[in-house]
Amino acid sequence: LTQKFQQIFDRLGRRGVLTEADVDAALREIRLALLEADVHYTVVRDFLARVRERAVGAEVLRSLTPAQQVVKIVYEELVKTLGSPAPLHLAGSPPHGVMLVGLQGSGKTTTAAKLALRMRKAGQRPLLVAADVYRPAAIDQLELLGKQLNIPVYREGPEANPVDIARRAMRFARDHGHTLVILDTAGRLHIDEEMMAELEAIRAAIRPEEILLVVDAMTGQDAVRAAEAFHRRLSLTGLILTKLDGDARGGAAISIRAVTGVPIKFIGVGEKPDQLEPFQPERLASRILGMGDVLALIERAQEAVEAEKAAEMARKLSRAEFTLEDFREQLRMLRKMGPLSQLLELLPGYGQMARMLSPEEADRQFKRIEAIINSMTPEERRNPEILNASRKRRIARGSGTTVQEVNQLLNEFRQLQRLMKQMKAGRGGFPFPFFR
Ligand code: GDP
Ligand code: MG
Repeated sequence: LTQKFQQIFDRLGRRGVLTEADVDAALREIRLALLEADVHYTVVRDFLARVRERAVGAEVLRSLTPAQQVVKIVYEELVKTLGSPAPLHLAGSPPHGVMLVGLQGSGKTTTAAKLALRMRKAGQRPLLVAADVYRPAAIDQLELLGKQLNIPVYREGPEANPVDIARRAMRFARDHGHTLVILDTAGRLHIDEEMMAELEAIRAAIRPEEILLVVDAMTGQDAVRAAEAFHRRLSLTGLILTKLDGDARGGAAISIRAVTGVPIKFIGVGEKPDQLEPFQPERLASRILGMGDVLALIERAQEAVEAEKAAEMARKLSRAEFTLEDFREQLRMLRKMGPLSQLLELLPGYGQMARMLSPEEADRQFKRIEAIINSMTPEERRNPEILNASRKRRIARGSGTTVQEVNQLLNEFRQLQRLMKQMKAGRGGFPFPFFR
């Protein structure tokens, strides 16, 4: 038995161990990537020290280069640092209070509505509360959102003060059978004493179960200082990172996590009410590292298939002469590894599509793609340029689809092919060639 283990070990691990030189060379690039992603430099320093300690002397998988192995360790540590996904913690008897705080423009009002929608889907009966009384437009904004989503909004006249509003809103919720009270509070452009005092007073008045700081992922270093101040005064219970659909790499998230120690609960990925997602450390980590989602794909590949196969797939992914046959094989392999919609999100260029589809729909799409490719001749798969109208009609008939669907697949495939080429050319922000 020992011998057998030894064999497996040999096969997987005998590339040697990471030397200090390997690690330092790779970490120089990672340091730049993290700083570029707006992670605070002291956080970067501590983080990399941790990684270094773990990496030097670590085994290198045969399917990876030393640099890739370091990246893998960096990624794993980053995921750990970002923390586990955390749902809302609603203990005790309803109505539960959830207070959203944050600077002006961070996305509190939008997020309040998003959260209400999400929690209603989870079986709660939410009440939105307009406690931002300084800007009448803010109350109207919340009211409008509430109307659109058919979620009641509690508001009072302009002379009422936010503490009383919060208190009366809780009573209203109790009287009307609401189980969840989401407070949209006032923010300023900068933290000031008056704002903090008011938030403290609201907190004392209603004792919310959650005090969530809403942070604009684009604000970088400022967000860290703000988070520190909010946490000191209010003892935050969680973070919501907004605007992660933009260009921001989200590096501030690591810094804020490090500074406050509170979990990131949700991320905002768009302006629409359904664009709030549970936080997933893996995805944010690969985004912060700026390597697209390829790293996550490797990670999963390694878990699900043997290291050898993963390397093979990595080569395929990066190969410019990627054919429809490779595409089909890859989809098949991916499907063995988990729910397709999740996996599609990891594939460059498919995230958008995956987000729009339900798992069942994604699965149907997959089957359709496979059926179409199956109906092609090997020659057509290798060289789709030869597909003229009559060939396309034959394929559509053979696969039970339409010519339009065949064309759509070919378009998608061409896009994917282009992406592969770009990746190979080293575009996409990844600091050094991940694949050899
Ligand atoms: P508040 O001042 O903190 O209440 O911020 P708002 O909720 O009014 O949001 C400010 C702006 O950010 C609005 O234009 C929102 O539509 C936008 N916003 C909020 N969250 C997101 C997000 O996740 N993605 C994008 N793209 N925009 C967002
Ligand atoms: Mg607002």
